[in-house]
Order: sequence, then structure tokens, then C-alpha cells
Amino acid sequence: MQRFSPASPTRMETPSPASPAPTRRSRTIRIGDLALGGSAPIAVQSMAATRTQDREATLRQVHLLEEAGADLVRIAIDGAADVEALAWIRQNSKARLSVDLQENYRLALPVAPYVDKIRYNPGHLHHHEKDRPVADKVAWIAQVARDHDCAVRIGVNAGSIAPHYKERFPGDDVGAIVSCAADHCELLDDTGFENYLVSIKDSDPRLVIEANERFAELRPDVPLHLGVTEAGMPPDGVIKTRIAFEQLIARGIGDTIRVSLTVPFDDKGLEIEVGRQILADIAAGRFRSVPPNFFDGLNIIACPSCSRVENERFIELAADVKRETEWAAEHDITIAVMGCRVNGPGETDDADLGLWCGPTTVNLKQGTRSLGSFGYDQILPRLRAELETLIAEKST
Ligand code: SF4
Repeated sequence: MQRFSPASPTRMETPSPASPAPTRRSRTIRIGDLALGGSAPIAVQSMAATRTQDREATLRQVHLLEEAGADLVRIAIDGAADVEALAWIRQNSKARLSVDLQENYRLALPVAPYVDKIRYNPGHLHHHEKDRPVADKVAWIAQVARDHDCAVRIGVNAGSIAPHYKERFPGDDVGAIVSCAADHCELLDDTGFENYLVSIKDSDPRLVIEANERFAELRPDVPLHLGVTEAGMPPDGVIKTRIAFEQLIARGIGDTIRVSLTVPFDDKGLEIEVGRQILADIAAGRFRSVPPNFFDGLNIIACPSCSRVENERFIELAADVKRETEWAAEHDITIAVMGCRVNGPGETDDADLGLWCGPTTVNLKQGTRSLGSFGYDQILPRLRAELETLIAEKST
């Protein structure tokens, strides 16, 4: 499957350090008291990784990210107990808050009074009320946002694209996600709601670059939230993110950024520090290049974790997978390590080997095929065995 055009970032035209930064053409929207888009500074944001219902821990995350300089902090909401925790967090923090609706778009109504922005994933709208047209659901979200003075993010993710876009664009993931994002902009435009932005993310920075460039050509007026999802652990996660941000921001594309890194909860402020450093480097013309073979060899992708992580051993496991597979560094194989059972099963489908974490076991997959679930103490030898088999198969 072609996931991106053959052009690699190393062969892309690198903007001259002497060139003035191009003007962003997006309109300005408002998230609480934060102006975003147009000539406003590029905002830096992140997400609480703790379970939302553990409200003290989540409030600590909000404070930690705020102190690191976050302009906006996102929290995942899966049900009524999360909404209750969010209300308590709102009472105890002045941070600008955003929520991720995930599967249940109806949660927009109870959360809206407590937040400044609501993110919905077009790929998740079909999970509930399957007979209700998507346009109705989007119009309803827009009305809720309008009533509570919230912004909306259309958050498209290549790993969870609505099924009919895959059918319309067979073998062209970029076409599918760009078209999905543009269609949802039109749905919001039809309601007269303008206080929205778009994100188009993937774990491959090359896809992120191409998709955001194509979208910005179609809709230069719509502010863009940039991010490389599941970038993984530093330093690789930082490098992947920098590749995408340099190419896009230097072309005037991108109004807010999120750096996604798989790091312990207490180190999440690093996402903000790295984001600000990348922005400062781009503004000063300090571009980093990567060698042409940067994308060759073993590729470990790992989600940044969020409130859906049910076993904190996920973070340690991601680091263990990286260390224990170093012997296979030369092989062109992708291993995905995901933190939860909500997005883990889907987000590992495109990897050669995928691991997604449950409360007591880790589920192992080869592509879309399940290889079973294993205890946290058993998974690494099993992964090694599968990796050896895969390498042997590929070399015959
Ligand atoms: S895969 Fe699950 S735990 Fe990881 S960031 Fe996505 S939703 Fe959160």
C-alpha cells in the first residue's frame, strides 16, 4: 500500500535560513482567551497521560504541563465518571482545557461547560447511533460548541480513518485523510460555525508532511494543529517530529503543535520543552537534516499514552521493546507499541508486529492477525521469537 509519495524529507527543498518566515494564511480562531491562527504565535500544547478519573493525578499533570509552558492541555473523556473528574479539575485549574471525545460524540454536551475546545475524530462518529447521518452529528457538535463558546478540532488520524474513505481511496491513505478532513470542514461550514481547526496525524512524518501540505492547498483558511502521532521515545520521537514540523512550519503551515513522546508521566513537560525548542530553531533558521537512510531499518512506534492506559508498565514495556530489538536494527520492520485497548487494536494494524496493552496482558499481532495475549513478563521473549521468524521469512 502506498502511504505517501516517494519524495523523502531529505530530498525536499530546505527553506533558506535567510528567508523570512512565510506568512500563514489561516484565519484566526479563539480557544478561550487564546488567539490561534493567522498572525498569532504558534501555540504549544500537550495532553494529560494519567487516568482522568484519578483526578488528583490528572490535575498534577495539568499543572506540570502548564508550568512547562503549555498554552492548552487536553484531557481524554470516555464516560460520566471522566466528566465528573473534569468538572473537579476545572474548579481547581485555570489552564485552558481541551477534551478528546473519542468514541462517544454525545459527551460533547456534558463536557462543554468545562472546556475551551472539543476534539472529535471523524473516524469515531460511526460508533454510536449508526443510523444518524454524520452531517447531523457534526451539526449537533457545532451547536454544543457554539452554545458554550468552545472551539472545535476535527482530529483526523490515519490509523482510525472512517471505513468508507478507505474504500473511496484504495491504497492512497493521504488522499483518504485529506478528503475526510476537507469534507468535515464543509460540514461545519454548512452550519455557519467557524471557530474550528483541523489536525491530520500519522506516525510517519513523511505522510504528515504530504497530507498537511495537500490540505493547506485545499483549505488555506483553516488553522492546522500539527503532530506526529505515536512518534515514540526520545531521541527518535523528537527527530521524527522535527522532520515534519521543519518542513511544514517553514512553509507557513501550522498554527499549533503537539509533540507526542513516550515518556514517564512525570516527564511529560518534555513535550512542551521540545516543541518550543523546535519552534525557536525554525524561527532562527536552524534546520536539522537527516541522512537519506534515516527511514531505513527497524522502526519502533509507540503512543504517547493518555488516560486510557490501564497499566503503567506500558511505558517501561515500550522502552524494553526498543532495547531488546536493537539486534534487528538493520531490518525494515515496523513494531508498534500502543497503550490501550481502545485505539491499540486499530493503530497496530499497519505494523509488521503490534503490541497493545491491556490491564494484565499484552496483545501481540502480526499485521491485522492476532497472535494471542501474553503476560507483561512473557511478552518480550515471544516478541523476539516472532521477530526472528519474520526476519527469516523476509530473507527467503
Ligand atoms: S493508543 Fe490508547 S493509550 Fe495510547 S495515546 Fe492512543 S488512546 Fe491513549
